[in-house]
Amino acid sequence: MKRLVLAGPGHAHLFVLEALARARWPGVETVLVSRGRTQLYSGRVPGYLAGQYALEALSFDLEGLARAAGARLEPGGVTGLDADRRELRLGDGRTLAYDAASFDIGSLPAGDSVPGVREHAVSLKPLEGALSRLAANQATGPLLVVGGGAAGVELALCLQARTGRPTVLLEDGPQVPRGASRAAARRVRGLLERRGIHLRLECRVTALEAGVAHLDSGERLAFGTCVWATGARAPELFASSGAAVDAQGYLAVKDTLESPSHPGLFAAGDCAGFLSGQHVPKAGVYAVRQGPVLRHNLHAFLTGSGTPRPYRAQSGFLSLLNAGDGTAVGEWKGLAFHGRAPWRLKDFIDGRFMARFQRLATPLT
Ligand SMILES: Cc1cc2nc3c(=O)[nH]c(=O)nc-3n(C[C@H](O)[C@H](O)[C@H](O)COP(=O)(O)OP(=O)(O)OC[C@H]3O[C@@H](n4cnc5c(N)ncnc54)[C@H](O)[C@@H]3O)c2cc1C
Repeated sequence: MKRLVLAGPGHAHLFVLEALARARWPGVETVLVSRGRTQLYSGRVPGYLAGQYALEALSFDLEGLARAAGARLEPGGVTGLDADRRELRLGDGRTLAYDAASFDIGSLPAGDSVPGVREHAVSLKPLEGALSRLAANQATGPLLVVGGGAAGVELALCLQARTGRPTVLLEDGPQVPRGASRAAARRVRGLLERRGIHLRLECRVTALEAGVAHLDSGERLAFGTCVWATGARAPELFASSGAAVDAQGYLAVKDTLESPSHPGLFAAGDCAGFLSGQHVPKAGVYAVRQGPVLRHNLHAFLTGSGTPRPYRAQSGFLSLLNAGDGTAVGEWKGLAFHGRAPWRLKDFIDGRFMARFQRLATPLT
């Protein structure tokens, strides 16, 4: 029997579990290692915080999914990888040998080493911790969202819609959302203005203390709650794994999603670093498209049937930002639009994705 270990229940691994639920792979036993029994879908997190969804609408039942796929669930997390020995270390200290291992563990919050961030801000990763801290948050003072990427913009809009608190969105670049087209940036700027969200561009937080952010300009900004949404950095466990990593410390992969240094070791989603130089943003939509390629290549590696396929990142994608008030801002090929229809479309697309994998989960009988 060969052992496949799926480390992390990220987007791409849902496709592998789905394939196994339909038909087991001959001679393969599967272990899914997670950090808990539920996986949250980030695309609906801002909507949850805006009060648009119940928690169930963004939760995957990992026990049910593992059961449907005939996999064993290890919910204590992966803490280490020894790629030469083909072993993972689990949260409780046990080791787990593998024939093939695939990592889809997402990323960590960038810039969380800024003094005071770990103590005084709510970091978005892990999502579970962030959600419970934000949901339980009783603070009434201003809300400060640091980081003007798509997630930061959505969170500022959605948290403000729910709480009505004075809100500041702070970004160190020249526009929000970071990386969006000019048309989308104009739409978002107009929306932030109408909603009274104060946008601060080209300024950086240099330190946080209780209730106060220090900016690089020397200014001090008071806050009741600070949400840290500054983007992604690599999970730490790859650095000491012996496997090749990219310049940022993500697990290096060829376009087939397999490690160039260790055959049988794969990665997908935010935690994968593509050596070919193809541009793969750290976003869920890219992790989703890697799922079918990962599924195919793991199957080929473990069963010896078929040849590995390369993953090619899509050149763009329909971006839909939830404004938290029943509208969304959309962007498609440089065109931007705002209204109720983009929100309904986002809700539909996210709902279809959730339903596809939620209905796979087999209840305990
Ligand atoms: C608020 C918010 C909203 C977002 N909205 C969107 C959106 O609308 N569209 C979009 O494309 N992107 C969005 N993103 C970005 C998106 O969340 C990530 O790019 C995406 O989740 C990456 O998917 P993944 O499969 O790599 O990993 P993830 O979805 O992050 O899943 C990884 C899983 O592995 C678990 N894990 C982590 N470490 C370990 C470990 N050591 N052992 C075991 N398990 C572990 C994590 O807890 C998590 O459950 C959003 C991000 C945030 C924060």
